[in-house]
Amino acid sequence: MIPTAFDYQKASTVDEAIAALTDGDVKILAGGHSLLPALKLRLNQPSKLVNIAGIEELKGIKEEDGEIVIGAATTYHDIVKNDIIKSKLSFFSDSASRIGDVQVRNHGTIGGSLAHADPSADWTALVLAADAAIEVKGKNGKRRIKATEFFTGLFSTALEEGEIITAVRIPSPAEGTKTAYQKFPQPASRFAMVGCAVLRKPDGVTNIAFTGVSDNAFRDAAAEQAVAGKPLDDATIEAAANAAAEGVSILSDHYAAADYRKHLAKVYLKKVLHAVA
Ligand SMILES: Cc1cc2nc3c(=O)[nH]c(=O)nc-3n(C[C@H](O)[C@H](O)[C@H](O)COP(=O)(O)OP(=O)(O)OC[C@H]3O[C@@H](n4cnc5c(N)ncnc54)[C@H](O)[C@@H]3O)c2cc1C
Repeated sequence: MIPTAFDYQKASTVDEAIAALTDGDVKILAGGHSLLPALKLRLNQPSKLVNIAGIEELKGIKEEDGEIVIGAATTYHDIVKNDIIKSKLSFFSDSASRIGDVQVRNHGTIGGSLAHADPSADWTALVLAADAAIEVKGKNGKRRIKATEFFTGLFSTALEEGEIITAVRIPSPAEGTKTAYQKFPQPASRFAMVGCAVLRKPDGVTNIAFTGVSDNAFRDAAAEQAVAGKPLDDATIEAAANAAAEGVSILSDHYAAADYRKHLAKVYLKKVLHAVA
């Protein structure tokens, strides 16, 4: 399959990339692992691609003002190797090491995955459980969008026309915070048929997020309430599993019917809660 013809620009700064977005039907190119297949299938037919993969200010991981900041063009490989992430957000590095294959991990970027908002992506659940904010920039400047407000539907986000994701900002977890992510992977792609991410704070406040279950990843308030502040014994974990994914419109496709996905959501919630107990 061959994409339709497009112009190509390699941006070296964020502002250059933002300026290029006003040139017509322009798409940002980061790792290309989702965009290039879409171009080849002609699902997207942009007039121009702006490559942001080489923009230094979009890469890297640092701690700043009580937050862990991951540049949007940071690759999964760089996240896996990073010491801050390994020590403070180990579910990010563990999960990133299991996304796709080596090529996907070497080129795929956290910003690209979040912007794409695939209903089965891993990063969506991870940033939700981590209470992240997505930092975006457009011609009117920067703004932050809470992860809980970022994913708005199937492949849809709160990004506005002309904006790019610049970073993911995560509150530095308090000492003693535990995290886990588990997924039932699609056997070929390793995408999550169902994935569940949990972050449990020392005071027992627990963030629980699902991917693969519905049109977009979401925090499960009922499951969170079932475990908040309580010891994670078998009865509490069972109560959370019973509450999981209730009232949610569940995806059904040739990989998994809705009732099976709901069953997987409960099973994977139990797995992650046992992991942080
Ligand atoms: C074989 C294979 C297996 C995979 N397995 C998994 C898996 O197990 N789990 C998983 O989660 N994903 C998986 N993926 C998807 C992979 O993670 C993609 O890399 C990711 O979805 C997109 O990131 P990217 O950097 O490649 O973005 P691109 O493909 O370059 O871009 C994707 C979309 O985001 C937009 N975009 C990119 N960066 C930005 C930005 N900073 N701001 C605004 N818009 C932006 C682009 O315009 C485009 O619309 C797999 C992909 C492949 C090919």
